[in-house]
Amino acid sequence: MIALQRLAEPAVLAENGERWLERFLEQRNSSPGHRPDSRQYGHRTIRNTLRAMSFGKCFYCERKLSESEDEIDHFIEVAESPEQTFRWENLYLSCRDCNRHKTPNSRIPVNGCLNPCDTTGDPSEHLTFAEEIIRPRHGSSIGTRTIQKYRLDRDQLNYLRTKQLQQFERLVRGLHIACTREGRQLNEAEKEAIASFGEADREFSLMFRTYLTAVYLP
Ligand SMILES: [Zn+2]
Repeated sequence: MIALQRLAEPAVLAENGERWLERFLEQRNSSPGHRPDSRQYGHRTIRNTLRAMSFGKCFYCERKLSESEDEIDHFIEVAESPEQTFRWENLYLSCRDCNRHKTPNSRIPVNGCLNPCDTTGDPSEHLTFAEEIIRPRHGSSIGTRTIQKYRLDRDQLNYLRTKQLQQFERLVRGLHIACTREGRQLNEAEKEAIASFGEADREFSLMFRTYLTAVYLP
């Protein structure tokens, strides 16, 4: 998870959100289990704006998502606060696993967890990594709850992060071999290629930022 800057509300939501909400609340009154229409809150332009905010990554786990993989997540669950179903600030882009398997608000409330769209706090102050394994930084309780809520320590993510680390290590090893052979230091372009793994558009960039800071760019 990294901090994300929220973009302006898409026009389709600004123009229709209130009407969609009114209709949804009416339907919910007559049938309490009624779900909102995902074609409305998941409208293509809403989805594309969220994708632009996160460089096509899950807001929580930083997995890169193909267009068929992304889901719209309600940060405050619909069951918890139906009034926020079509509120722009409550719509997040998520992978299927972070969305569907997150721990309910009744057990781990979002207000005790990191919020990627709250730019006043940096997730890197609360989350760190040992290789591919995510950990709360300095025992941070907000970091611990965030990992638990979205299951950021699940096996699938460990596997994907390991693959990325291997790719990174292959690059670094290759560059160091070239430097040794040629009796020189890394040049600027090579340093940039290494540092690019920590840029916001890269998958699992927080893990690489932690790694780069600790190992490569002390
Ligand atoms: Zn995710």
